[in-house]
Amino acid sequence: MLTPSAIKSRASEIGFDLCGIAPAEALPQLARFREWLARGYAGEMAYLARTADQRTDPRLVLPGARSIIVTGTVYNTDRPYSTTRGAGQARVARYAWGEDYHDVIGKRQHLLLGWMKETVGEAFNAVAYVDTGPVHEKVFAERAGVGWVGKNTCLINQELGSWIFLGVILCSLELEPDAPAVDQCGRCRRCLDACPTGALVEPYVLDATRCISYLTIEVRGAIPESQRRDVGEHVYGCDICQDVCPWNRRAPISTDRAWLPRTIFDQATTAELWDRPDRELRAALKDSAMTRAGVRRLRRNLSVALGNSADPTAEAALFNDDNRADSPSLMDSMVKEHVEWAKAGERG
Ligand code: SF4
Ligand code: SF4
Repeated sequence: MLTPSAIKSRASEIGFDLCGIAPAEALPQLARFREWLARGYAGEMAYLARTADQRTDPRLVLPGARSIIVTGTVYNTDRPYSTTRGAGQARVARYAWGEDYHDVIGKRQHLLLGWMKETVGEAFNAVAYVDTGPVHEKVFAERAGVGWVGKNTCLINQELGSWIFLGVILCSLELEPDAPAVDQCGRCRRCLDACPTGALVEPYVLDATRCISYLTIEVRGAIPESQRRDVGEHVYGCDICQDVCPWNRRAPISTDRAWLPRTIFDQATTAELWDRPDRELRAALKDSAMTRAGVRRLRRNLSVALGNSADPTAEAALFNDDNRADSPSLMDSMVKEHVEWAKAGERG
């Protein structure tokens, strides 16, 4: 018989650090999603509005769904937080440093689901997602007792902090749900005060269009000029509202080498990355979580970061034309416009 405790025990054997069970229901928190969309906070992420019905009721994602198994995987490493690093350091969000979490976690989910099917011995419907389906993983993680959604809108676990990849398995099995997690943010508002762009417009509410993660990852074309200074030295994503969270002060380090930074990104300066030819950047992005940005968008972000850096190597890199022949992305009109902006700007 398939029990919640057997599922959790198998999940732990497979390598998941957390596992909880939520009912597959239209939880009240999901209703706030439409209001968030109506405020325009999703920006260019049109896929969110397209899948709004499913996002507010998981039974529309998997008809007959009764339970959602939520897994959590720590991806923290021993490298310093971006908020403690000096000028000139390329800031890449911690989750994107290593292997593509969609692939790594997806394989583990596949193992867990395969074991569930063997154990049950009869057919049931199930679908697994790692940030890939129209499911609000954080909301179900909170309902499953895996952690609470903090004022920075990240999922926080009392013991493990917030450097956690979430995954969900929706299934038609009726499983006893866990007790929901309790919000432990209290009167703290460090994340709201630390956010450099005011993207956390109120506790628990993110205006994605002002968030550096959105600007450097989701925006496909030009970063609006009025927001380029806000990007600072962030090259891909932003961790500030997690760096400052007290629940991450003693966050454990994962022993999984999959999350260690690829050599090229390991505490690199923006100038060092800029000097790499396209082929090296492309190879470094392959099978990483950053593959989504592609070299063109990475170049765009690097140029903005160079333009915002007070580090002397940044200016030198911007005006060094040596790598042009090796880097067709520098001939791209969108990239060129950002480079011109960076060259013209008041640095620092
Ligand atoms: S990721 Fe950065 S920009 Fe976005 S809300 Fe957090 S601190 Fe603000
Ligand atoms: S920084 Fe404070 S308010 Fe923000 S998520 Fe962490 S505990 Fe909550």
